[in-house]
Amino acid sequence: MVADISAAPPAAGPEPASRGRVKRRPTAWVAMYHSVSDCPDDPYNVTVSPARLERQLAWLAGRGLRGVSVRELLAARARGAERGLVGLTFDDGYGDFVTCALPALARRGFTATVFVLPGLLGGENAWEPIGPRKPLLDVDDIRRAAAAGMEVASHGLTHLDLTKATEEVLYAEVNDSRDRLAAITGADVDGFCYPYGYLDERAAAAVRRAGYRYACAITPGPAGSGDFAVPRIHLGEADGAVRLELKRRLARVCRRSLEAV
Ligand SMILES: [Zn+2]
Repeated sequence: MVADISAAPPAAGPEPASRGRVKRRPTAWVAMYHSVSDCPDDPYNVTVSPARLERQLAWLAGRGLRGVSVRELLAARARGAERGLVGLTFDDGYGDFVTCALPALARRGFTATVFVLPGLLGGENAWEPIGPRKPLLDVDDIRRAAAAGMEVASHGLTHLDLTKATEEVLYAEVNDSRDRLAAITGADVDGFCYPYGYLDERAAAAVRRAGYRYACAITPGPAGSGDFAVPRIHLGEADGAVRLELKRRLARVCRRSLEAV
């Protein structure tokens, strides 16, 4: 893994001061969070404690990195100005996004993208068969997040595996969720996130047709997916400084392999 990094071309971004006299900033990557709470019952490894999140954000800041929404990250990339930025995403729209994540982000001047489920507003994470039930954001919470500068984007209506959805259900999950969110926030919805990270060419095409500008996955999607399968790196409670550094390097390798496609 490390050997791959050192063998990468200069354009992909070496460590600062490691090549010549040009000081490059780290290449952008996208981190994936879900819930932020002190709940110890976490069978799906989707929860990070507020204290751990605080330390991870401090780690980013200490390396000269700033957390931003994916929308902001992609806009910066279009200007050739994404270095030093890290995309931060929070899936599922847990209620603890506004109570725990948002204050920590705001204290550092960071933003993030929260992927919400407009078919389950004010509901709970019923798609997870085991583990604790957690409340989801409601309409007021979503408006509060948007007013605080966070990007509110779609995770579909009800957290379905879109690769198994009928055409009718796929359309509703992708298009209706976008319309409902736009009605709540009063703004266009640029981003989509595939539930479970599952996608195929049909799902990606549906997202593109619906008018989104990008979609987040977990692993890289089918060849040619581009911004409609943005890979992300999971960050969790176990990720202290050493693991964060390894994951940052992993993100850079993934990105380079995508750029080579
Ligand atoms: Zn999800």
